[in-house]
Amino acid sequence: ARAFPLPESTRVITVSNQKGGVGKTTTTVNLAAALARSGARVLVIDLDPQGNASTALGVEHRADTASVYDVVVGDSALQDVVQKSPEFEHLYCVPATIHLAGAEIELVSLVAREQRLRTALDAYLAQLDEPVHYVFIDCPPSLGLLTINAFVAAREVLIPIQCEYYALEGLSQLLNSIELIEKHLNPELRVSTILLTMYDSRTNLANQVADDVRQHFPDQVLTTLIPRSVRISEAPSYGQSVISYDTSSPGSLSYLEAAAEIAQRGAAT
Ligand code: ADP
Ligand code: MG
Repeated sequence: ARAFPLPESTRVITVSNQKGGVGKTTTTVNLAAALARSGARVLVIDLDPQGNASTALGVEHRADTASVYDVVVGDSALQDVVQKSPEFEHLYCVPATIHLAGAEIELVSLVAREQRLRTALDAYLAQLDEPVHYVFIDCPPSLGLLTINAFVAAREVLIPIQCEYYALEGLSQLLNSIELIEKHLNPELRVSTILLTMYDSRTNLANQVADDVRQHFPDQVLTTLIPRSVRISEAPSYGQSVISYDTSSPGSLSYLEAAAEIAQRGAAT
């Protein structure tokens, strides 16, 4: 595997878009796998009650599994709930279980409800002997308290955008939320990366959307596009990233390429 440059300090990246089905989880899992394969230590925090990232990484997340719920709502430490991925050395996952579905409501009455994940993550990172290079947080498709916790815990936001007609709809709402968080809760937060997903080069529409997004966000959009690919969508049912499920497939290569771009850009963009 090709080695990417490693960041000097931990990059915490929230993968967010309040729309469902745009490729958040797929992007989280495959970028994490690509970076882990290239020698980085990577932690994925599954913050979606559906637990799709946990499934895709082949990590246990039954109702009674210790999970991110016990951290954000309960008093568990991240190190008590983190699991090793069976797929790659140095790829770890904090799973989500069905209990997380109630967390949006349970969080409302808790003290420092927006900072719960950040506090836990800072404590976790501080006690590690060997630093984690990347933390990816997979968000649910909403802008509720779980996503706010992710925005407060991160420095970077990665927005996957599906190359389809409604792609830009709702984006201004997302950007407004990020601006509000930056203003009131986390001055370091910024949109560092936009990734175009499910790209089909045969359609004019996909090209139009891609051009549009590049025009609006010239500094954030990665050069690499993620193609629509059956292999990408099949991989999770084997509890694998596409990186190991079908290493040389176009989908796998595109995520490896996107990960290389992210690594090369560093935290500075
Ligand atoms: P989100 O987390 O934003 O809801 P997902 O990552 O779960 O989105 O993707 C939604 C669906 O689209 C899933 O079934 C996934 O397997 C599929 N999918 C994601 N990216 C691709 C792609 N590049 N090509 C084909 N299918 C994809
Ligand atoms: Mg998802």
